[in-house]
Amino acid sequence: MAFDYDLFVIGGGSGGVRAARLASSEAGAKVALAEEFRMGGTCVIRGCVPKKLMVFASSYREMTVDAAAYGWDINIGDFNWPTFKGKLDLELDRLENAYRNTLARAGVEVFNERATIDDAHTIKLASGKTVTAKHILIATGGYPVKPDVPGADLAITSNEIFNLKELPKSVLIVGGGFIACEFACILNGLGVKVTQFYRGEQILRGFDLEATSMISDEMVKQGIKLRLDDNAASLEQTDGGILVTDTQGGTETYDQVMFATGRTPNTNGLGLEALGLELGRGGAIPVDKFSQTKVPSIFAVGDVTNRINLTPVAIREGAAFVETIFHGRPTSFDHDQVPSAVFTQPELGTVGMSEEEAAASEAIEVYSAAFKPMQSSFAGRDSKVLMKLVVSKATQRVLGCHIVADQAGEMIQLAGIAVKMGATKAQFDATCAVHPTMAEELVTMKTPVRTT
Ligand code: NDP
Repeated sequence: MAFDYDLFVIGGGSGGVRAARLASSEAGAKVALAEEFRMGGTCVIRGCVPKKLMVFASSYREMTVDAAAYGWDINIGDFNWPTFKGKLDLELDRLENAYRNTLARAGVEVFNERATIDDAHTIKLASGKTVTAKHILIATGGYPVKPDVPGADLAITSNEIFNLKELPKSVLIVGGGFIACEFACILNGLGVKVTQFYRGEQILRGFDLEATSMISDEMVKQGIKLRLDDNAASLEQTDGGILVTDTQGGTETYDQVMFATGRTPNTNGLGLEALGLELGRGGAIPVDKFSQTKVPSIFAVGDVTNRINLTPVAIREGAAFVETIFHGRPTSFDHDQVPSAVFTQPELGTVGMSEEEAAASEAIEVYSAAFKPMQSSFAGRDSKVLMKLVVSKATQRVLGCHIVADQAGEMIQLAGIAVKMGATKAQFDATCAVHPTMAEELVTMKTPVRTT
């Protein structure tokens, strides 16, 4: 049977664009891609990229205070959101165009409209047009969800935060995950009065507890009102702002409330159930290690599969799919020991197992150094950093590395190579220190602080 395309990709985010480009330009496939919103997906348009630029913007206030302590005659004044926002919009336009140009150069046909699946090889476009493809790749990502509490529609999510006309004076952020913690730090740095509710005992559940405890301490020191074991029970619009009643019975009014309470796969109305594809938790598309669904011609990569919801993972899954299908080399992405960073201030960089996770599976040695780093200590700032290795007692292999520090994201990218290679503690120790740095502690910790 002749198809219109070799590959039809639904979704123009990190995973979809990478797969479409590689299949077309490197494997010579006839490829089309449909995107209903802006090209670039969550990462470029309302995620990693604008978020990181906001992290940069928000870090200057603290830097200026420290600069003054170092002897600079400096006064930062107020943050001008419209100035930043104007530049941000231009930058996102530039990146979106870069994505479009990349696809055009690769020869991918782009449909700027919603696409749904009619059958195993047929795609229906919003315009009513129907096309066929030998393979279909779903890369539709996810979207933020709000809890079902009265007045939830008064709150924004990470989708809207980049489009505010002006910065609120006060904000309540609900949630304790990546997005909640990152935006608590960003908005606090920009001069917004931040309160954060997290329903559990410690933010960033699932990460190394010693690391997350330090981050929550640092966030509180910076002025974030972090309320653990608390949640929003209801929201009500009043003349003074949004009145929030919390689950402990307290009330407070905020200019803005942001729910950062998780994201869910974007599969609504795609037509998957009619194909007999049973969706997983929250609507995730179940796939095998080659990102193939139960319908052999249909594949899915990225957040829509809810494996590890990170941009570089979606890109690798997309590339592996192209290797497997269009180059005939069965390739799967290894989801083990994926390094990641939470861009709080200070950042958390992490790879491998947390102390708690490792201790639950085998006997371990924990090497950990918490100390005041030279740069901020000289400026009189009371902040700490953490360098931590979790080591298998039996094999001496480093099972996890956790860093809390400015630039921890940069550091963990490099430490991640050693951990992924299976380096032992002795091999870390055999590496000479770079002095004076914070990360030198990773190769100079001689005695475990704990063993199990
Ligand atoms: P997360 O899953 O990381 O966090 C969701 C948070 O919301 C958790 O603290 C969760 O609590 C809480 N929560 C869930 N439901 C409710 C509820 N009904 N009421 C109150 N709190 C609730 O999701 P995010 O939205 O922060 O981020 C989504 C994903 O995006 C991340 O998991 C990550 O994969 C990716 N991401 C990565 C970034 C990076 O690489 N730097 C940055 C941003 C996002 P509990 O822990 O109790 O379940």
